[in-house]
Amino acid sequence: MQWSDEALVLRVGKFREADIWVRFVSRRHGMLTAFAFGGSRSRRRFTGCLDAFNRIRVSVAASRDGRFLNMQEATLLEGPVHIRRDWRRQGVAANCMRFVEAFGVPPDSSSACYDMLAEMLRVIEDASAIPAALPVFFRFKLASEQGYAPELAVCPRCGSPMPGAARTYFLVQEGTACCAGCRAEGESGMMLDRETLDVLRKVKEKSPLEWRAGEFSPEASRQAARAIDAFVRYHVGLEWSDGRFRAM
Ligand SMILES: [Zn+2]
Repeated sequence: MQWSDEALVLRVGKFREADIWVRFVSRRHGMLTAFAFGGSRSRRRFTGCLDAFNRIRVSVAASRDGRFLNMQEATLLEGPVHIRRDWRRQGVAANCMRFVEAFGVPPDSSSACYDMLAEMLRVIEDASAIPAALPVFFRFKLASEQGYAPELAVCPRCGSPMPGAARTYFLVQEGTACCAGCRAEGESGMMLDRETLDVLRKVKEKSPLEWRAGEFSPEASRQAARAIDAFVRYHVGLEWSDGRFRAM
């Protein structure tokens, strides 16, 4: 088996003297790890493009016994400039990539995941300001696209469009919001004001390129990020802690 595809480099590691392993998300084949034998020396075959955040065209072949993938060639399609120079952008980009790694890429959503990560990297590279909640929004967007989308438009209990009143409640475990009047007495839920619900809906429905900087107020973004963290922890089972995603 041999193929060539576009890929985003998630992570690169060295083993032995001159060999490299590369984890990447490819457009058609999902998330994979391949070995680039001689990768740290062969500039001809890899043209120095095996670095995290790069978009590359990669040719791989399965090893003879089928147990690993051998990267035969790679060329650079696009490499970020600001993400490499600006530690803050780099941290946000790395956080998004770690989430993709921890979440995994199901084979049937390979190209959707690839496109979203590529778009997110473009936003982190080009945006004039990087809101603190950006990586959290990315988790919500990716989880939503993979079938974890919470209901935010219509209250599932009474069928009214939300927000009907000034407040709604985000029922984390049920994966839905409901209007204030439909929340059962004593039922746990996070209160969302109109603006926070609006942030959650826009993040879910629009693409990262459309999350214009300054569109969301810092306070509503913070509230939305809290709701997303709780949602991702409960439904996806992942939590960001001490610089990595921990399975809950
Ligand atoms: Zn209701």
